[in-house]
Amino acid sequence: MSTVNIEYKLSENPGKIYWLGFALTPFIVLLTCLAYVYSNLYVNFVGLNVLFLIIFCVFLFYINKLIVRISSCRSKKASMIHASYMAVVTVYLLFATYVYSMFRIDNVNYSLIDLIIKPVMMFERVGFIAQMGPYNVFGGKISGIYFWLYTFVELVIIIGSVYFGGKKGVHEAVYCEQCKRWAEDVKLDLKLDVMNEKEVTNILNSDLDKLLDLNKFNSKNSNHIVVNIHKCSKCNETCTLDVDMVSYTKDKKGNFQEAKNDFSPLYLINQDQYQKFVSKKAQG
Ligand SMILES: [Zn+2]
Repeated sequence: MSTVNIEYKLSENPGKIYWLGFALTPFIVLLTCLAYVYSNLYVNFVGLNVLFLIIFCVFLFYINKLIVRISSCRSKKASMIHASYMAVVTVYLLFATYVYSMFRIDNVNYSLIDLIIKPVMMFERVGFIAQMGPYNVFGGKISGIYFWLYTFVELVIIIGSVYFGGKKGVHEAVYCEQCKRWAEDVKLDLKLDVMNEKEVTNILNSDLDKLLDLNKFNSKNSNHIVVNIHKCSKCNETCTLDVDMVSYTKDKKGNFQEAKNDFSPLYLINQDQYQKFVSKKAQG
């Protein structure tokens, strides 16, 4: 019997992202920017400043992902539009909070609101700071073109994190349109032995139940697949399955490097199939 597996796709409904997401973003980003610029202001050590940048980017990634989820945004396009908006807001507020913190330390009092609502004045101050050279790295001052180069690299990393968060927010995400909620990852993590990619492709193109005939993976460092399941725990009806491919390559030192990649789209499965995969996982 050959079955055509039904692919699951998000509905492309933008949810509340265009109002709730757009309204929440500036406030959360402002707080995150203040924490970031003040950490850097009081700690002048390159290693820690790089660590702060990484933490800041991780926060931005999760904030964007969270906003996509709480807005019930099921549209990749809307999620990318929000990510672009958040990137602009982040860059702007980062400059504003930066100027604010730099001038406060010199006892020049600008109100943060003033700096935010007067972009011309704010960017003039940024230009002034750039000329002065605010950073000392390895005994040398970073000013002028070097300041802007450094800032450019920093902003590219920051903007990248924002976009990545938006992308991940809708990646392999399953929304139950019936219950108006996200389906949970049931963390099935069922590992199965496979001969090669073609074998898996054939199964995915015919009948997903054939995955159940594969042996469970229990050797080391050999290619295998991982079956993941998402299920709405409210209605138990919206349920999907997807497959990741885990492959190994040897590095120069002879150590195995593991790489896990998406191999299939999401497919809808029924309760009966769900139970079969859970039983398969439970088998010793
Ligand atoms: Zn449901």
